[in-house]
Amino acid sequence: MILIAFGTRPEIIKLFPVVSELKKRGIAHRTLFTGQQTDLYEDVKALVPPPDFSFAEAFAGAQKHNSLGGSFVKICEAAETLYARKRFGIVVVQGDTTTAWALAQMAFYNGVRIAHVEAGLRTFDLMNPFPEELNRTLISQIADYNFAPTRQAFDTLAKSGARNIHLVGNTIVDAVDHFRKTLGLTSETTPLVPVTLHRRENHAVMGELFREIEAIARDNGDLEFVLPIHPNPEVQKHRHLLRAPNIRVIDPVGYPDMLRMMSRAAFLITDSGGIQEEATCFNKKVIIAREKTERPEVVEIGLGRLAGRNLEREVAWARIPPGNPDASPYGDGHAAERIVDVLAGRLA
Ligand code: UDP
Repeated sequence: MILIAFGTRPEIIKLFPVVSELKKRGIAHRTLFTGQQTDLYEDVKALVPPPDFSFAEAFAGAQKHNSLGGSFVKICEAAETLYARKRFGIVVVQGDTTTAWALAQMAFYNGVRIAHVEAGLRTFDLMNPFPEELNRTLISQIADYNFAPTRQAFDTLAKSGARNIHLVGNTIVDAVDHFRKTLGLTSETTPLVPVTLHRRENHAVMGELFREIEAIARDNGDLEFVLPIHPNPEVQKHRHLLRAPNIRVIDPVGYPDMLRMMSRAAFLITDSGGIQEEATCFNKKVIIAREKTERPEVVEIGLGRLAGRNLEREVAWARIPPGNPDASPYGDGHAAERIVDVLAGRLA
């Protein structure tokens, strides 16, 4: 039996293609929602069938205090109980969250095999992104299956001595392709500039970043900035800084609406990892509000610029329409099929 574990919005977005593929092939599996991010869960829960297991209640207290250790301990305890109660052959974890690391470590303790989706991403700076760089590095040490999204991730894993590495592409391209087809999305350019800012490493400078957005909006009156604002209080407390008439601050939106906005964007401003990848699917330029990225490919193909806090400096570049699109460096939309091929082979 395969267990697919997720706890946050990006994990659900990047794992729903795997869940769909398992279902399509009639391969027995169960799903687990750890409740790491209950507020954003509502926006994406429709992407997967209702989870078979949920730790959301056990998690509620830890989340209120936003404590990394508290969250980690609660997920670990609940995961151990679950692994003892049900016999899983493989647990599939995604990315670099507390959920992914806690589920992987408890699987290791309890003799459950670990499959890591989106393995091998690194900035090689343990503090950036924090604590994700630590989480993903540790998972690679114990994973039985490492599913690398890109050649660079594959090479990083190979050098580190990780086991059983498969270059499969990133399931985010599968996710985008799914909605591109079902919603009939095509890439067009309108004055819309979607902005998302929320990362923990940016909390200390979030006020500065919001002031940059305000200044950019005032200097670019022909553009319309839309900011689906993250519920984290460290982000919310700065929303009063956004006053320009061409800035719209909205609640986080469901994934199909987010993709619809991206497909119509003039360009994007973000500190999110997933949005950097999605930008390449829609051939959109993206100003990256980070000092370092574990996704160098978007920069290498000329669609991304690492701006740190100096977002305004890159606006002139971002306003020049990109050239003809290359294929996304993050995959061809068949990553989930390859992942399930490997897992099915193991089960057989
Ligand atoms: N996203 C969404 N609605 C929003 C903002 C973002 O569906 O209002 C999606 C976005 O398209 C991307 C993912 O959420 O796929 C990014 O999640 P997040 O920024 O939380 O995490 P990261 O990508 O940094 O891991």
